Amino acid sequence: KPVVAVVGRPNVGKSSLVNRIIGRREAVVEDVPGVTRDRVAYDAAWQSREFTLVDTGGWETGVSGLAEMVAHQAEYAARAADAVLFVVDATVGSTDADEAVARVLRRAGKPVVLAANKVDGELQEPDALALWNLGMGEPFPVSALHGRGTGDMLDAVTGALPEGPPEREEEPEDAPRRIALVGRPNVGKSSLLNRIAGEDRVVVDAKAGTTRDSVDEVVELGGRPWTFVDTAGIRRRFRALQGADYYATVRTTTALERSEVAVVLMDVSEPLAEQDIRVVEQVVEAGRALVLAFNKWDTLDEERRYYLEKEIDRQLSRVSWAPRVNISARTGRHTERLVPALETSLAGWDTRIPTGRLNSWLKELVAATPPPVRGGKQPKILFATQAGARPPHFVLFTTGFLEDNYRRFIERRLREEFGFDGSPIKLTMRIRE
Ligand code: GDP
Repeated sequence: KPVVAVVGRPNVGKSSLVNRIIGRREAVVEDVPGVTRDRVAYDAAWQSREFTLVDTGGWETGVSGLAEMVAHQAEYAARAADAVLFVVDATVGSTDADEAVARVLRRAGKPVVLAANKVDGELQEPDALALWNLGMGEPFPVSALHGRGTGDMLDAVTGALPEGPPEREEEPEDAPRRIALVGRPNVGKSSLLNRIAGEDRVVVDAKAGTTRDSVDEVVELGGRPWTFVDTAGIRRRFRALQGADYYATVRTTTALERSEVAVVLMDVSEPLAEQDIRVVEQVVEAGRALVLAFNKWDTLDEERRYYLEKEIDRQLSRVSWAPRVNISARTGRHTERLVPALETSLAGWDTRIPTGRLNSWLKELVAATPPPVRGGKQPKILFATQAGARPPHFVLFTTGFLEDNYRRFIERRLREEFGFDGSPIKLTMRIRE
C-alpha cells in the first residue's frame, strides 16, 4: 500500500484532517510538543484506492526550534512516503515554519498536495489563494472541521500516488488452495499422494505450463477440495521420464512457484539430510506457507526418536513456527492431521494486520525495548506498515540501521502477538540516512 504522510506545523489541523480522511472522530490529540500519540499510521481509502496515512505530528525529532523541528519531520516524511499532504492554516497564512517545510519538500522531489485548511466558508477562499506563494502548486481549500473541499483534495492525493501493481485478480473464495508436496527423493511423496489421493486418480487439470509435466490434481481432504500442483513428478508412473536431480530441484522450484503452501516431507528412518534442509529453505525463500511432515513414523524406535528430536532442534530451529505432523504414508497414521496443519499455515500466510493496531503494538514494544545504539546514535522506528500478505510483509520506517538481532527480535514478537504460524514473514527497513 502506498504511504501518504501528513506534514505541517502544529495547530494547523493535521489531526483533524487525518480524522476527517479516515472517517473517525477518535484519537484527536492536541499538537502539543512532547505529547506522544497512541498512533501515527492509519489505513485509509478514497474512491476504492487504499493507502496508509501517516500523521507525522507524533514524530519526535530531537530538534529544537519550531521551524527546524517541522522541517525535519517533513524531511523524514518525504523520504518515507510516496506522497505528502502538506497542511497549512490558510487563516494564518504562510509562516517561517511553513516556508521551511516547503523548501524541504521541493528538494525531496516527492509529489506534494497542499491543503489550505480552515477554509470553513467562501469568506476564507482568498486566504487559500494566497498560499500559492509557497511554490507548492495549487492550494486545495479545505475545512477539516466541516469536511468542505476534502473530496477534491483527496482526488489530488490519490492522483499523485504511484500506480500500484495491477490489483491481483481476486481468487474466487472457494477456489481450492494450491499445495506443493516436496522433499528429496524416496521420502515417500508418491506413497503419500497415493494414500490420500488414490492410485488411479484422474488428472483433472492438465495445464500446458512451463514444463511438459506440470499437472495438477484436485483432491478432496477434510471435506474440501485442494489442488496438488505439479504432481506428475511425484507419481511413480511418470518418474522414468525424469532423472533424480531434475526431480529434486527443478521440480521443487516450479511446484513452489505455483503453490500457496508447501508440505515438506521428510523421512524419519534416516538422519535429516542437508537436502531436506535445503528444500525447507527453498520454501521460505519462495515465501510460501509451510507444513513440515515427518514420514515413515511407523519405522521409529526409541533411539531413533531421541536422535530425530535433536536433529529437528538443531537443523530446523529456523522454522520453529511451522506446524509439524508425524505421519506414515504406509499405514495412514495421522495423515488426516495434514488438513488442520495446512489450514493453520494458510491462515498465517493470509493475515493482514491493520496499520493502527500494528503501530500501537510497535510503539509499546519499542518503548520497552529500544533498538540498540549504533555508532553513537539511537535509531528510531517511526512507524510500520504491512505492505502485503501471502506472505505477510512488513516495512519499518526508521532513522537508522537496525541490527539483525533486533530485527529478529521484532519478528519473534510479531509472531507472539499476531500469530503467523506456518508462514514466513518478510521484514524490510526504509532508512533515512
Ligand atoms: P518419493 O520418492 O518421495 O515419492 O518416495 P516414494 O513414495 O517412492 O517412497 C520411497 C520408499 O519409501 C518406498 O519404498 C516406499 O514404500 C517407502 N515408504 C513411503 N512411505 C513410507 C512410510 O510411511 N513408512 C515406511 N516404512 N515406508 C514408506
